[in-house]
Amino acid sequence: MNWLRFLCVLLLTLLVGEEMTAQSRPRIAIAGISHESNSFNPDLTRLSDFRIRDRSNPSAALQRWKTGNDEVSGFVEEGERLNFDLYPALVSGATPKGPVTDDALNTLMDKMIQLLKEGQPLDGIYLALHGAMVAESYRHGDAEIVRRIREFFGADFPIVVTHDFHANVSPEIVEYATALITYKENPHLDTKERGKQAAQIMAGTVSGKFKPTMALVKPPMLYNILYQNTFAEPLQPIVAESRRLEAEHPEILAVSVSGGYQYADVPAMGPTVVVITNNNPQLAQQEAQRLADMLWETREHLVLDLPAPAEAVRMARESDVAPVVLVDMGDNIGGGSAGDSTFLLRELVDQKATGWVMTIADSEAVQYAAKLGVGGQFDFSVGGKRDNFHGEPVRIRGRVKLLNDGKYFEPEVRHGGTQYYDQGLTAVIEVEGSTQELKNLLMLTTERQNPFSLHQLISNGIYPERQKILVVKAAIAYRAAYEPIAARIIEVDSPGLTAVNPARFTFENIKRPMFGVD
Ligand SMILES: [Zn+2]
Repeated sequence: MNWLRFLCVLLLTLLVGEEMTAQSRPRIAIAGISHESNSFNPDLTRLSDFRIRDRSNPSAALQRWKTGNDEVSGFVEEGERLNFDLYPALVSGATPKGPVTDDALNTLMDKMIQLLKEGQPLDGIYLALHGAMVAESYRHGDAEIVRRIREFFGADFPIVVTHDFHANVSPEIVEYATALITYKENPHLDTKERGKQAAQIMAGTVSGKFKPTMALVKPPMLYNILYQNTFAEPLQPIVAESRRLEAEHPEILAVSVSGGYQYADVPAMGPTVVVITNNNPQLAQQEAQRLADMLWETREHLVLDLPAPAEAVRMARESDVAPVVLVDMGDNIGGGSAGDSTFLLRELVDQKATGWVMTIADSEAVQYAAKLGVGGQFDFSVGGKRDNFHGEPVRIRGRVKLLNDGKYFEPEVRHGGTQYYDQGLTAVIEVEGSTQELKNLLMLTTERQNPFSLHQLISNGIYPERQKILVVKAAIAYRAAYEPIAARIIEVDSPGLTAVNPARFTFENIKRPMFGVD
C-alpha cells in the first residue's frame, strides 16, 4: 500500500468507520425459554424450576455459552465467525415435568423482553425454544413466546427459532417466526449443527439475501416415541432425504422433520415437516407435503409389542449376553416423568435378579443414607413417592457403598450436548443378594437425572460393562451413551406418565382422528 492510499483509507476510516462497522456487524440477540411439558403430569413446572444462564459480563457470558455442544453454543460460534455483534439476553430452561405455570411464563417473558429492550438497537433475535411447552393458559407455550416477541418488534423483524426434535410445531408459530428449524437427530447429536444453521439463516436474512418462506405440514398421526430413533428405520431415510434437499436444492434453506412429543395433549401434538425456501412458497409447500407423505407411509411399521416389567426382567435374567439394558419407557425422565418409578425395581428384587444397576430419584432416601454414612446398614422404603403413577415404594435392605456430590462431566457429544451434570447428593446402595464379583446397585439421587451419560455411573464407582442388567429411565436419548456397551436392549411397556402406549392416556385436545391413538 503506498502512502497516499494509506492516508485515504485512514481518513475514510476516521470519518465513517464507526458507522460502517455498525452497518456491517448485525446486532443479534440470543434468547430462549426451553421446556417440554407433560400434560398428564399434575406436578406443574414453576419459576423456581427454571435455571437462567448467567449473563453477567456479556462478553464473558458469550464465551461460556460457546462451550458445549448445544444449539446456543453453535449459534454463538457461527455468529462470531459471521461477525455478528452478539447480545446475550435471557436463556432459560427446566427439566421436563408438568405444564409451566402462567406465573413462570409471564415472569420469564417480561424479563426477556426487558433485556431485549436494553439490548436495542437489534437487527434480529435468535430464539432457542424446545417446541413442546404447554403452559396453564397456553396450549402452545412456544407460539405464545414468539407471538409476544413479534408483537413487540413488529412484522418484518427477523426472528429465527430452533426447536428440539420432540417439538409439537403449531401452525401459529410458523406464522410468527421468520424461520424455524428443528433438530434432525434423535438422540439429539446435531444440536450444535442446528445452532450454526440458524446463524447462517439469520445472516442471509438480515443482509437481505434471503427471504425465508415457510410451509408446514402435519400428517394426522402420533409418531410413537418407540420409533423416534432417527438413526434407524423407519425414520432414518426420511431424515436423510431432508439433508439431501438442503444440500442439493439451491432454493431450499432448511428442511426439518420433527417427531413430536406424545405426552402433550394439545392440537399440534404429532410430527411435523417444515420447509424453508428462499421466497418460493410453492416449492416449500410441495416438499413439506412430500416428506409428510413419507412419514405417513411408514405407519404400518409403528407397531407396539413390548414386554411388561415382569417379563422383561425375566428375559434379562435369562439372557446369555450382558449387559442387558432395560428401558423403563413409562418413567422416561426426559419425557417429564417422576424418575422414581418402582415397577422394575419391584421385579428385580422379587425375582432375585443379580448384577443389576438402577437409579431412583428419592431425596428422602438419600438423606437417610447420608445420615448412616458409608458402610451403614440401609433399610428403607425407596421410590414411588412423587405421585400415584409410578408404583409403590419398595423396601430395600443393603449397605451404603458410596456417597457423592452428584456432579459429573461428559466429554463426548451426547444427547442434547450437555457436558456438566449435577444430580445432587447421591448415594449408592449395595443391595442384599450382591456378591463380591457381582453387585446389585441402587443409585439414589436427590434430583431427577436423565441417563444420557455413562459417567453418571462411572463417577459413582459403577462399571456398567461389568453388570448384567442396566435399567435406564428413558426412551431413545440414552442410546448415544449406552448402545456402545449394551449387548442387548429390551424396551419395557412399563406404566407411568411416559408410558409408550397412548391407550393408557385420555386425550382431549389433540386433532382427531389421529393414527396411533384412534
Ligand atoms: Zn428431545
